[in-house]
Amino acid sequence: MHVALRMDDTLRRAVLLYPDVESIVEGDRRWTYRQFQQEVHQLARAMKRMGVVKGDRVAVLSPNTAAMLQLFYACFQLGAVVVPLNTRLLPHDYLYIIEHAEAKLFFADDELIPLVEPILSSLTTVSRFVAIPVRGTSGKRADWDSYPELLGEESTEPCVDEVEETDLATILYTSGTTGKPKGVMHSHRTLFFNMQNTMFHTRASDSDVLLHTLPMFHVNGWGTPFSYTAVGAKHVMLRKIDPPLIHSLIKREGVTVACMAPTVLNMLINEPRFHEDKTTGPMRVVIAGSAPPTAFVRTVEQQLGWEFLQVYGMTECAPLITVSPIKHHLANESEETRFRLKAKAGVPMLNVEVRVVDDEDKDVPCDGRSIGEVIARGNMVMEGYWKQPEATAAAIVNGWYRTGDMATIDAEGYIDIVDRKKDIIISGGENISSIEVEGILYEHPAVLEAAVVSVPHEKWGEVPHAVIVLRPGMEADEVELDRFCRERMAAFKCPKGFSFAPELPKTASGKIRKVELRQPFWQEKDRLVN
Ligand code: ATP
Ligand code: MG
Repeated sequence: MHVALRMDDTLRRAVLLYPDVESIVEGDRRWTYRQFQQEVHQLARAMKRMGVVKGDRVAVLSPNTAAMLQLFYACFQLGAVVVPLNTRLLPHDYLYIIEHAEAKLFFADDELIPLVEPILSSLTTVSRFVAIPVRGTSGKRADWDSYPELLGEESTEPCVDEVEETDLATILYTSGTTGKPKGVMHSHRTLFFNMQNTMFHTRASDSDVLLHTLPMFHVNGWGTPFSYTAVGAKHVMLRKIDPPLIHSLIKREGVTVACMAPTVLNMLINEPRFHEDKTTGPMRVVIAGSAPPTAFVRTVEQQLGWEFLQVYGMTECAPLITVSPIKHHLANESEETRFRLKAKAGVPMLNVEVRVVDDEDKDVPCDGRSIGEVIARGNMVMEGYWKQPEATAAAIVNGWYRTGDMATIDAEGYIDIVDRKKDIIISGGENISSIEVEGILYEHPAVLEAAVVSVPHEKWGEVPHAVIVLRPGMEADEVELDRFCRERMAAFKCPKGFSFAPELPKTASGKIRKVELRQPFWQEKDRLVN
């Protein structure tokens, strides 16, 4: 008989094998796997009572909390569809997403409710609002139900409905680095494959302790919660990025694994506690994306002492498609080779096919030089964009998802992301990878962050321009940075201008919003919107 793949099976298995093992730590509260699941059953019952049936959308606005993870599991059990909301959006974005998704229920963390207050009266599909209290607050608000009270009214008996593996599990609106968010639909099946790959490629086990440093409202923050639940690991929740707190949680809870945006890793590298006290215990690996320069991989491994595991993916692929080589594959290589290989996106994950193709859809030569677009196929590719059949048809062509990322592939099959198609700088007919130029700039001791974007140029069409954030207390001017670049790369790749900023505009997942940086330079031209 066919057994449907379903995401809540990860929790069922953990409770079966590890009922009394600690599953969640949030501040001073702790849940065993059995306690956690009992609350999930209560929540599923409460949602049913509020009229939720299979296929209904449930929106949630929350930092990483036990309640957020419970909501995912309760929806999985009922076949309802979670619509997680990014906590860094503006009121009109929330209105757009909740209305577009036609959500029936809306859960929000007490601390974040002010973000959506201006739009609540304009919501036309939401029938009930549920406030999740922060520890120490009552969660009582006019017009809002209180999360603990809702749970308290229900029994802890199992509440699991029939679900097909192709039923939707989530609709996640993309981070919007390049335009208006689109609702990426994932089913139990697509999420299941990503969950298994995350488990396998990060070597998850029941002795792991996962620190939730990536937001669960973002696809990169997903694979791990479900994978590490499946193996009965302990989850340590984190509401906000706070380097001293991260240091103490790593020590107190014995954290072994975390996913971190490069910006967060950078904060930890600069946090004195990580220098003064190197005994961050059993922390074995940090999982990161975003094309890190080799120098950055070296700094993380040498200064923080953690293995750096690079993954590459996108919301549409649930997200992971490739992974950089892991330690034992590189045992015989020199340290420099190890860091260089880890700075690449790596090789396709299990049951994922990846190609790098030219404009005519032919594979580019595997020479590590020829650039083409990455396309991917496999069970983890989204079911489509919610209510946007044309955008779906443009993104998935003959079963292959077109990533919009440009890369090279070498003879060993290692994929190296060169740039986003829309960020690549075409100067006098030459392709310049903004990521490559940024990599060189990061080697300068005074550079904390660098973003390279294309600006218009009369002779060359476009030229690279660098926006730099300096390390506190350090200095480097345009002349110095220009000299530094010229010594290290071909003249046509060197930024033709530098500007300095106190910080770079970022998305909630910590990605630099290059569209915003390009904007002032391209007022009358249309390189703004892609
Ligand atoms: P939108 O699609 O709304 O513009 P987005 O593409 O930034 O937003 P995500 O799906 O969160 O939203 O990000 C996926 C993208 O992030 C990839 O397409 C790629 O450009 C970049 N990325 C992810 N991992 C890596 C990596 N390891 N190396 C280089 N780039 C990466
Ligand atoms: Mg994208």
